[in-house]
Amino acid sequence: MRNEDIMQECAEQFAHVMLFQCPTCGFALSLALVRDEGNIEQIDGSSYAFRCSCGWSGDLLGLSAKRHWAEPWRRSRRTHISAEQKTYFADQI
Ligand SMILES: [Zn+2]
Repeated sequence: MRNEDIMQECAEQFAHVMLFQCPTCGFALSLALVRDEGNIEQIDGSSYAFRCSCGWSGDLLGLSAKRHWAEPWRRSRRTHISAEQKTYFADQI
């Protein structure tokens, strides 16, 4: 497989990392997502399910995150990657 073919399988996306605080014990809860959307406001409008080690579980709105940052992210869109391609991607890191 040519390198160009592999590159076409990759797409620029965004990794969103959010840091929340457990409403019961105050422990730090983190969440990482990869989305096509780089707009922080859109991610903030959704709620996410958490389970804390103190026993609390529930949904937290993205807006309530202590910190939220987005990073340009590239990953393969393939759901199945051959062993040969895995080696290729590993070499790029
Ligand atoms: Zn907790």
